[in-house]
Amino acid sequence: MNSAVDKLVKVLNLEADRGYDNRAVLGGLEKMIGPWQEEARSLGLPSVLLDTVESLLHEYASMPPAARKEAVRGIRSNLEGASRGGGPAATSGVAPASGPEPDAESEQASADLDAEVDEGSSSAAVSTPDVAGSKPQALRAPLTTVPGIGPKSASTLAKLGLRTLEDLLWYLPRRYDDYSQLKTIHRLWYGEDVTVIGTVESIDVRPIRGGQMKLIECVVSDGTGSLRVTWFNQPWLVNQLRPGTAVALSGRVDQYLGRLTMNAPEWEPLERQQLHTNRIVPVYGLTAGVTARWLRRVVDSVVGRLAQRVPDPLPEAMRSELGLLPLGEALQQVHFPDSQDRLHAAQARLAFDEMLMLQLAVMRQKQDWATLATDPLPVDDTWVAGFTAALPYALTEAQRQAFADVRHDLASGRPMNRLLQGDVGSGKTVIAAAAMGMAVAAGAQAALLAPTSILADQHLASIRALLAQGNGLPEQSIRMLIGATPAAEKDEIRRGLQSGEIRIVVGTHALLEEPVAFARLGLAVIDEQHRFGVEQRAALRAKGANPHLLIMTATPIPRSLALTVFGDLNLTVLDEMPPGRQAIETRLLRPAERSRAYRFVASQLEAGHQAFIIYPLVEGSEKIESKAAVDEHHRLQQDVFPSYRVGLLHGRLRPDEKDETMAQFRRGELHVLVSTSVVEVGVDIPNATVMLIEGANRFGLAQLHQFRGRVGRGPHASYCLLIPDSDDEQENARLQALESTNDGFRLAEMDLEQRGPGDFLGTRQAGFAELRLARLTDIHLIEKARREAGRLIEQDPELTRPEHAALARALQDFASARKGEIS
Ligand code: ADP
Ligand code: MG
Repeated sequence: MNSAVDKLVKVLNLEADRGYDNRAVLGGLEKMIGPWQEEARSLGLPSVLLDTVESLLHEYASMPPAARKEAVRGIRSNLEGASRGGGPAATSGVAPASGPEPDAESEQASADLDAEVDEGSSSAAVSTPDVAGSKPQALRAPLTTVPGIGPKSASTLAKLGLRTLEDLLWYLPRRYDDYSQLKTIHRLWYGEDVTVIGTVESIDVRPIRGGQMKLIECVVSDGTGSLRVTWFNQPWLVNQLRPGTAVALSGRVDQYLGRLTMNAPEWEPLERQQLHTNRIVPVYGLTAGVTARWLRRVVDSVVGRLAQRVPDPLPEAMRSELGLLPLGEALQQVHFPDSQDRLHAAQARLAFDEMLMLQLAVMRQKQDWATLATDPLPVDDTWVAGFTAALPYALTEAQRQAFADVRHDLASGRPMNRLLQGDVGSGKTVIAAAAMGMAVAAGAQAALLAPTSILADQHLASIRALLAQGNGLPEQSIRMLIGATPAAEKDEIRRGLQSGEIRIVVGTHALLEEPVAFARLGLAVIDEQHRFGVEQRAALRAKGANPHLLIMTATPIPRSLALTVFGDLNLTVLDEMPPGRQAIETRLLRPAERSRAYRFVASQLEAGHQAFIIYPLVEGSEKIESKAAVDEHHRLQQDVFPSYRVGLLHGRLRPDEKDETMAQFRRGELHVLVSTSVVEVGVDIPNATVMLIEGANRFGLAQLHQFRGRVGRGPHASYCLLIPDSDDEQENARLQALESTNDGFRLAEMDLEQRGPGDFLGTRQAGFAELRLARLTDIHLIEKARREAGRLIEQDPELTRPEHAALARALQDFASARKGEIS
């Protein structure tokens, strides 16, 4: 038995008996940290145990009783481990990694945790990696197999999502502090991050702020000068940094009363392997009860032991051709980099892996689609000629190409899986109508899923108009099913779909929720894809036998994202506007210019036009947002536009109320429509000529561009007025892009750069936001990974070759962690 351990156990027992009142030690338990650590160190107890005790007792005084109880329990369980492994700990602990390692055994034993604390469990972790290459098993071992991690620490680490050795290996630093610059004291500059190596000259503690805090003042010199170093409230340092101790200090050079100082630097005794100082130091995300120093030590021990044993998924030939680091080295360097260059190389390697996995996953998904068979739905040239002849306008070149793409897919015998992208107003509806018309002409049924009943209604009208004339489809064979459809009509529609009498149905979520069955669903069209999740798409698809799928989006998706996040889909872009479209004049105004904006709106109303006024989402709460819109609506009606009719749309209205308001606006009975952003305004009101957007700074450029696209749909000159919340120039500089360009793709690229991919991912978010290192804006990385993934799949589609075994396994892990996000 170890006397330092015994002593602490006694204190903890007493503390528990007293009900955790922090009186077992005079002045509080934290008082004993320093002295106890000193004794424990001299007895050779592992320093990870010392650090653990320190981190658990450190804030003991300020903890509520329940937390104290936890802390005491945690220390006890760590101590139990220490006393069981007491013998070896006492001897190997004092022989840190300074001398040469005689053999592998002692390398493991004295690894950077200095010693095995819990011999019983750690021996498992040490031996498992050696069992005939069963590496994945060792990686999946729980953290308690790491010396110095007891059940308490393990449960604390679980709060960071860390449960296995592998988790820890992949727990990448949030950032790095570069203390690799070693300098002598006389050459220090104020404000730089450096490491200084010297000897402690003196160290003192004195109370400050009337005894509330303790200031530890230390003087360190290196022969060229001396430096004042301070810490607060860590009195035990006095015992650890005795005069004469050689230390490395890393931190930022500060200034106090005209002299250079360092405040609360990282430090460590010089003879130890340097983890915290004199290098590029990793900074990890922490949680209560985990100190930076302790976690660094734990990670170092696991990385040192396991990084080299993680199977490298990249085939050697590819790795060396691309000049990437081996995985083990990359893992080592990403945690404890030898230099900035090595760090970047490590990050590049890990980012490549992520992107490669992503590309392989979407390509395989695409491949899977391609192996499915479905009924071909061909139409002859006469049908095409008839359809186009009946249109009230000539198709744009881009529309013609999209038409051809869709026609080709439908006839192919493989299910179409196409994403049709086109800016607001680019004319996607006619492509959807054409696709549905072809499906019907070839004997199948078609369904269109829209995100709101307002849009469903508008689609119904357009599709009926487009398909009734040239194709002779009677109105009764094209129907709409929404939540508000009367029960009797729902029944009738259900029967009609089941019998095949109804050829086309347009609807909302109700289509999925109602028990609707089709006689022969050949084509599913989804409008505004970002509003629907994977399951909803799957549910619609399940209503037919591998039906063709046409997905439409008005959000221009930057190319880099389209290649990754939507890489499993074929892509058609409508990059051309129908002729005669009004360019929308956009103006960014200051909040103080609001009355000017109102006067402008009034002048448009006077000319017989209509206006939208949009309010942003406030703090994500539909309730608050709706209230803001309600109040504003009242004010606008009473004070600003008293002689016009102002309508209101917000997310808390019933669907039939929304529909009614929208219908009134469309009929011109309302002159101004006040709306919140959650309400889909994707409707065609040719007479609306002004879009006024309040709180414009809260929206992405692409989204603002969407709003703006709601005007300028008729023959009249149209305007968009943006009013940000504040005058902040820097913040509003972003919005100026809308004044200078009407190109949705350029705006989307800017959004991606400025705001990240969140705005574009929609329901695909989860699987793609989790990337650790790869950036979805990095087009070079994406293209490199895509090329390699394409080559791999071409050479070895199922990745069954032996040199691809590790890759296949890694891909499986990657895909199962993101199950269902990619489709
Ligand atoms: P979106 O792509 O936003 O869904 P729509 O399909 O609603 O666009 O089309 C916007 C408007 O443009 C509609 O009024 C539509 O009739 C009209 N339109 C579509 N294609 C053409 C074209 N080739 N020439 C002229 N007008 C067109
Ligand atoms: Mg549309």
